[in-house]
Amino acid sequence: MSDRSKQIGSYDREFVWHPFTQMKDYASRDPIVIERAEGAYLVDSEGKKYIDGVSSLWVNIHGHGVPEIDGAIKKQLELVSHSTLLGITNPPAAELAKKLVDICPPGLKKVFYSGDGASAVEVALKMAFQYWFHKGKPEKKTFVCLDNGYHGDTLGAVSVGGIDTFHKAFSPLLFKTYRAPSYYCYRCPLGKTWPGCGIVCADEIGEILRGNHGEIAAVILEPCVQAAGGMVVAPDGYLTKVREYCTRYDVLMIIDEVATGFGRTGKMFACEHDGVTPDMIVLGKGMTGGYLPLSATITTEEIYEQFLGDHEELKTFFHGHSYSGNPLSCAAAMGNLEAFQNNNTLSVLPEKIEFLENELREFEGLSHVGDVRNKGLMAGIELVSDKKTKESYEAAEKMGWQVAEEALKHGVLIRPLGDVVVLMPPVGIEKADLTKLLRATYLSIKKVTEKG
Ligand code: PMP
Repeated sequence: MSDRSKQIGSYDREFVWHPFTQMKDYASRDPIVIERAEGAYLVDSEGKKYIDGVSSLWVNIHGHGVPEIDGAIKKQLELVSHSTLLGITNPPAAELAKKLVDICPPGLKKVFYSGDGASAVEVALKMAFQYWFHKGKPEKKTFVCLDNGYHGDTLGAVSVGGIDTFHKAFSPLLFKTYRAPSYYCYRCPLGKTWPGCGIVCADEIGEILRGNHGEIAAVILEPCVQAAGGMVVAPDGYLTKVREYCTRYDVLMIIDEVATGFGRTGKMFACEHDGVTPDMIVLGKGMTGGYLPLSATITTEEIYEQFLGDHEELKTFFHGHSYSGNPLSCAAAMGNLEAFQNNNTLSVLPEKIEFLENELREFEGLSHVGDVRNKGLMAGIELVSDKKTKESYEAAEKMGWQVAEEALKHGVLIRPLGDVVVLMPPVGIEKADLTKLLRATYLSIKKVTEKG
């Protein structure tokens, strides 16, 4: 290992506290130091190349080094890197807002910028609460969310989250919510089997709303895929049912597309699969193609109008972040959308998805693969100790982690969610690289679970 790599490693060990990382484990081996990237590959400080198998934590869209995004950032850098959005504007923020409204489901009209997904979720929750307050219904102040859901790590987002491993410790700090069952078909919490079930998990939301809509501001959920919950895929039609219940009981629908947005599921936004328009959509991650932090909460004119009033009425939405609408980030997001157009990204996706789905079928034959699921290029392979009983492995066995460690040897960087091996390559990945990623993952699962 080069002296430089050693030095970076020692600074890192001594001074950096990594997110979602048990630092005791982390210290047990030399860190991977990513120094540069090309297309779907990350390159470490020793020159070793890895396929970016989870899109640098679900953000990268067209690969690394995208001419449209590079160019847009450089151009903006010559002009201004940051000026506030509090009371004034900048060209990329305004132009991007127009573009986002053009590509979002019809009816979504006003773009509120933040910096990361969790902040944009906080905005949605606060906006929903205050919308009803301004409408003279301050009692509509609770939320319905899903078991196994994930919306970020700030306290509001954690309050509407449903992953015990991440969220339970903070429960004394959280506000109360109504929790509906997850749409986790492989381990259906209602003991049903799809498609015969009639998607009764969505009816549970209906039941909660029927009895309590007077105090409920909004339902918040991830459309089509509970991503951090283990790439759990919703049955077709689920979202449509939830939309119908929200409309029937006069409750807002907040769709969190932070993970699913920007082509990941095969359409620009996952809610398009069911043709659903929410009252608010939350975007983040892939918005800048994986270059810079930027997120948005996009809402209807009807919601926006409730915040209009004379200065002294204090109807202003008193929320903002230092870097809201940052011109460099917004320019990157414009570059991202330009790359979608130039590369026909969405129209070439079905072929890649079909290829992925065919290849994934082979995984089903592995003796410790319980479930293989995907929506577009978001895939989860659930490892189980017993295929028949669906019994999970003991957490201490760290099977998911072992697979990821094994995959490193094949030049593939993935990050599991517990014992769900996650694949979420850049949407623009070439078929040859996708093949490599799948092969390496297959062999790694086989090696770790079948132990030679
Ligand atoms: N919502 C969803 C659906 C997510 O998957 C995530 C992050 N994985 C977030 C919100 C939070 O986004 P961020 O990490 O940018 O705060």
